[in-house]
Amino acid sequence: MSEIKNKCQWCENESDMPYTYHAMGPLQEKYELLMQGFEKKYGSKWYDKGAEIGKELLDDVLFYDQIVNTVGRGIVCVDCLDKDDKVYTKFKNNE
Ligand SMILES: [Zn+2]
Repeated sequence: MSEIKNKCQWCENESDMPYTYHAMGPLQEKYELLMQGFEKKYGSKWYDKGAEIGKELLDDVLFYDQIVNTVGRGIVCVDCLDKDDKVYTKFKNNE
């Protein structure tokens, strides 16, 4: 038996899930809350408000936003999909 176990792209745990298309990283409640707050405070162009938000934090959030909106081929384990689904339901359902 020399079969190499697949690894989850997000948490690096071994997984026997097949290759499919996923975002490059999982949704995170922390960042979703931040973006929600920015939008409330600065409107839909919050990403232009580096001076108000702070460049470091804005860069961090924009990087996250890019990761979760970039789709690639990979393996994501059941646990991660489950967590992702919960955050998705919480934050994306009302859009
Ligand atoms: Zn995982």
